[in-house]
Amino acid sequence: MKDLRVRIAPSPTGPVHVGTAYQALFDLVLARKFGGKFVLRIEDTDQVRSRKEYEDQLLQALSWLGLEWDEGPDVGGEYGPYRQSERLEIYQWHAKELVEAGHAYPCFCSAERLDALRAEQMQTKERVGYDGHCRALSAQEVERKSGEDHVVRLKMPGEGRCVVKDRLRGEIEFDFAQMDDQVLIKSDGFPTYHMAVVVDDYLMEISHVVRGEEWITSTPKHLALYAAFGWEPPEYIHLPLLLNPDGSKMSKRRNPTSVEYYRRAGYLPWALLNYLALMAYPPIDEEKFSFAQLIEDFEPDKINLGGSIFDMEKLNWLNGRYLREDRTPEELLQELKGWLLNDDYLGEMLPLLQARMETLGDFMPRVAFFLARQVEPGAEDLVPKKREVEEVVAMLQTTVWSLDEVLQWDKEGVETALRGVAEYWEWPVRDVTVPLIAALTGVRVGPPLFESAALLGRDLTRMRILDAMAVLGGLSKKKAAKLEKVWKQKG
Ligand code: GLU
Repeated sequence: MKDLRVRIAPSPTGPVHVGTAYQALFDLVLARKFGGKFVLRIEDTDQVRSRKEYEDQLLQALSWLGLEWDEGPDVGGEYGPYRQSERLEIYQWHAKELVEAGHAYPCFCSAERLDALRAEQMQTKERVGYDGHCRALSAQEVERKSGEDHVVRLKMPGEGRCVVKDRLRGEIEFDFAQMDDQVLIKSDGFPTYHMAVVVDDYLMEISHVVRGEEWITSTPKHLALYAAFGWEPPEYIHLPLLLNPDGSKMSKRRNPTSVEYYRRAGYLPWALLNYLALMAYPPIDEEKFSFAQLIEDFEPDKINLGGSIFDMEKLNWLNGRYLREDRTPEELLQELKGWLLNDDYLGEMLPLLQARMETLGDFMPRVAFFLARQVEPGAEDLVPKKREVEEVVAMLQTTVWSLDEVLQWDKEGVETALRGVAEYWEWPVRDVTVPLIAALTGVRVGPPLFESAALLGRDLTRMRILDAMAVLGGLSKKKAAKLEKVWKQKG
């Protein structure tokens, strides 16, 4: 058997999702169990959405969780580079090879032509997709157009069955007639996800692709590419999705999804991972188990496909058990210091308070909200005088959206966003800041808002605003959708 090599291939386009940690955990367990290697590859081919800050956060989050990778952009390895943006020539070269072998072709169709095609297909209720127009171009025509903007497309089979073999699910059938010729290289010379993932998994000798269930439908496209190259595909293990309590895909609308939230709210890294393991793996004797126990017990076929509802109450229970059962008071003290009770963090809080202190004893109560998992604002503090509850809830929702778009999370970033919200509603800034102070601190008066939000961090801030909305009765899905439409138009 080839050496076992697994990878995670996250795209650095946003805060690190717990789903990435979940997948990385199963990768790492496989690697450690079978003496293989765990690779971290950064899929940063989306030039618009990828950011270096997100990549840094990714490395930090995985390190905090203790999910150590053997090869990656920071530690290197024999199969580098491990950042796709540094591998562009490799993809281009491979695409060229496919074109020369007759498995792929340049496509010169303009965006206008594709839009018109789509509109027509929608009207005639045909399957929407590329019609293969450039597949038939003669060599001379291609030659003549060679200076023009183009993409490279894979000649998909266009008919027949595609069987995806998934380790957990067995054979899953797809119909190639439903899949049009996939773009491999975009007009900017960057590869698409499908192209890059296949080339890299092959060149990096990945033996097992462990990824979320949402990628199953991409797998036939990958298999078509492996076939075109004449390469052996890896084994696929698609993990069950993490779900919201209502069975929908876990989203940050309901649950905090970023790893940073859990760190900041005071969860222990292994408690979170133990919980994530339970999302797809049965208890080992009982639900609380160690990494070593998981490796010892691990069998891929024991991964279960049943519902994996992410239940905060249960996570809290498990985390609590680690704190109570596995820590001496001394160890707990160290834990607290390593978390936020340290000079660095206290030092950042102090300047926000100093001007308002009369005795040292004023410090702790006033900064308590920075260290709390949750606060409990009263409805009366969340609604400024002369404002209606409903409009405040709507304002808070637009604040969440606006803060989500802040790139640089600091005082200025927060301030600009919140002033923008006040402008949008044509409210005095106070009517925005008053509810937010209550939402973040749980009380009516606190240290300066913008600085406090900056220090509290993006993830805790977000969750507290959502909690405050819930205190006020929340916003129905319908109302939120309506609001979002208007909000987007204005923005
Ligand atoms: N870049 C994809 C992601 O963000 C990787 C999917 C895969 O594992 O193939 O999750």
